[in-house]
Amino acid sequence: MKCLLLFPPQWIPFNPHLAGPAIHSIIKNHGHDVRLRDLNAEFYNTVLTQTFLFNAVKSAFSDFDTNARPVFEACPEKSQLSQHPQDFQDRFRRYEEIYTMAQRNEYRKAITQIDWATAILRDKEAFYDPAVADEALSVINTACGVLSATHHPSGLYFMTPKVTVYYGIDRLRQVCENIPGNIFHSFYNTLIVDLLKELPEFIGISLGDYSQLLPGLTLAMLLKRSTSAHISVGGNLFGRHTDILVNNPDFFRTFADSVIYNEGEKPVIELLRYLEGKIPVESVPNFMYMGKNGSIVVNEEVPPFAIGELFPPDYRDLPAKNYFFPEPVYNIQASRGCYWQKCSFCTHHFGSQYAIKPIERVIAEITLLQASHSACFFHFIDEAISPAYLARLCQAIIDEGLKLNFYIYARLESAFNRDLFKLAHRAGLRMVLWGFESANERIYHLMNKGKVTSKQERLKILQAAHDEGIWNFLFLMFGFPTETLDEARETVDFVRDNRSMLSHGTGTTFMLADGSPIHNDPERYAITSTEKIRNGFNFALRFTVNGGMTPEQRKELERYKADNWRLSEMKYRDSSFREKLFLYVCKYGVKRVSELNQTIWL
Ligand code: SF4
Repeated sequence: MKCLLLFPPQWIPFNPHLAGPAIHSIIKNHGHDVRLRDLNAEFYNTVLTQTFLFNAVKSAFSDFDTNARPVFEACPEKSQLSQHPQDFQDRFRRYEEIYTMAQRNEYRKAITQIDWATAILRDKEAFYDPAVADEALSVINTACGVLSATHHPSGLYFMTPKVTVYYGIDRLRQVCENIPGNIFHSFYNTLIVDLLKELPEFIGISLGDYSQLLPGLTLAMLLKRSTSAHISVGGNLFGRHTDILVNNPDFFRTFADSVIYNEGEKPVIELLRYLEGKIPVESVPNFMYMGKNGSIVVNEEVPPFAIGELFPPDYRDLPAKNYFFPEPVYNIQASRGCYWQKCSFCTHHFGSQYAIKPIERVIAEITLLQASHSACFFHFIDEAISPAYLARLCQAIIDEGLKLNFYIYARLESAFNRDLFKLAHRAGLRMVLWGFESANERIYHLMNKGKVTSKQERLKILQAAHDEGIWNFLFLMFGFPTETLDEARETVDFVRDNRSMLSHGTGTTFMLADGSPIHNDPERYAITSTEKIRNGFNFALRFTVNGGMTPEQRKELERYKADNWRLSEMKYRDSSFREKLFLYVCKYGVKRVSELNQTIWL
């Protein structure tokens, strides 16, 4: 069967996401003719250009000059805006954004420098000059701001694929249809014919993150209007929302013939067998579709393929030159789910069962990628790699004589000792992203992160890593239930005092996750009430807690962070920042990165 797999915007365009190559491989190995297109990379290569920016600004100014006045006159008091229909509000805000953009005048710099800026990110020398790379990223961020203004309400992000506010299915559909207010229309317009020219019979659209909802569904909608091929959207996020989809047959009429929820490899193979007439539709697992009577059917979920049964990801359709990085960093996975699964705030492992890949399979994948793509840099996307597995993996890398650099996620455990870091550094480990969360022992204990709770013990592990040439990156969390201002300050102080050996995210704010251990046992965390608020593809859990910071203390904490972390220096504190940091560590080593981190937070 002729298959087309699409990975839509918006995702960080620094390297190929693993989802597409993984599905590509399994479909090909089951005998189908399959093509994979990373539309995310293609999108950024299209819109982050002088030509696209110039035309977008010119067209927005022309629209403003012709049409803005009557819109502003129809709503002279902004406080009355919410009384107007949604499409009027969108136009009003779009003209406002265009006006502000024109006043700021930054668009001129973005237009003239955008081609220079994207070239810098791909330049094997200039990228490693922190000041030049920062300037390039600043130009790109400004360009994204300009395009967000000219195409409001759709937003455009480069460094952080922010979650857009369009969760409700009706609202999503409205923005999907909004041609001037949806930048993805401009991109897809000319692309649809090209996508369909080889007459695919099955089109799979992979939506791994909420940031892909609007662009992914806009794509699905336009394809559905243009082809009779079976269109299926899939991704882990749908597993959380089967209840919403089951009551929305319109979703299936508008966007896709079917939805695959949770792990997609097994369902997609069975779906292709169904489309070939070999099995009934009821036999396709993890599958939602519109039944004959117009209602939505949800087929049962089955366990995924064992991780050792998966074929190595196939990157052949994704040339490295399409990405905005001087070196391709390949995503690789040694395990599925999390071996710990006990952190009280976490639901990361939702929808997947923990399983590890045999070491020889990981080695074979690395070897294959080195042979086919000269791959030197790897990002293990596993939720957390255990010390025991890391030791075996590193020994195997050394035994095989493989030359690579890689980074991993891990939990602070006493088995991460100097001997292990020495071995790991020899194998190519250059950075660990630790779930550090809080320096305060009481809070860390409540989070149930593990036995090593004292900050001094944890610092010893970080110091050992640093001494062996491995950079530490810390994930932090503030506002955990009952956390006091002093306890939160303790984390800020810890990070400030140890910046010679670590970098950090600015810190997420605690959010109560549905189904997390805290949610299942709220009294233990002094949570007095919870309320689930549903808005289409989103839900939030509001909660009240007996203790913790007051709103004024939260503001005080932000001021404390700003003063102690010199937040003005931390311009690009997000996901992509870590990949840049990784390449810097690979190039310069921890000593130089430590020096750089003293003058500007990396
Ligand atoms: S926070 Fe990380 S280590 Fe903890 S349970 Fe979640 S995935 Fe596992």
